[in-house]
Amino acid sequence: MKGHCHCNAVHWESDAQAAWSCYCHCSDCRRNCAAPVTAFFGLPHEAVRWLGQAPKIYRSSEGVERLFCGNCGTQMAYRTARDKVNIHLYTATLANPGTLPPQFHVFHADHLPWLNLEDKLPRYAKTAG
Ligand SMILES: [Zn+2]
Ligand SMILES: [Zn+2]
Repeated sequence: MKGHCHCNAVHWESDAQAAWSCYCHCSDCRRNCAAPVTAFFGLPHEAVRWLGQAPKIYRSSEGVERLFCGNCGTQMAYRTARDKVNIHLYTATLANPGTLPPQFHVFHADHLPWLNLEDKLPRYAKTAG
């Protein structure tokens, strides 16, 4: 699978399968992506190849790095010292985002009250554990 930012300067690709795919309702992702909810999925850190312009890195909190395109500002990925296995890539950066539906919600306790998603997926108040 592969993905890219809005201006096409930053690309990534991987031969791995997504470890999981979910919605995140946390306030950090919401503000960082300027979107009411985001979706991301896990791929092993070493299985992701970055192509084109290297993503810029924003340290949004202790041990957390958010990767984005320095040209157009598209948020690309999230990585945390707490997850040594996977980098979390934003589903919307995929070439074909429709092929990787979320399987559950995390940080649902922080979801916006006016956001009504009518799926029957599991909703975790914080992380999925
Ligand atoms: Zn870009
Ligand atoms: Zn989040």
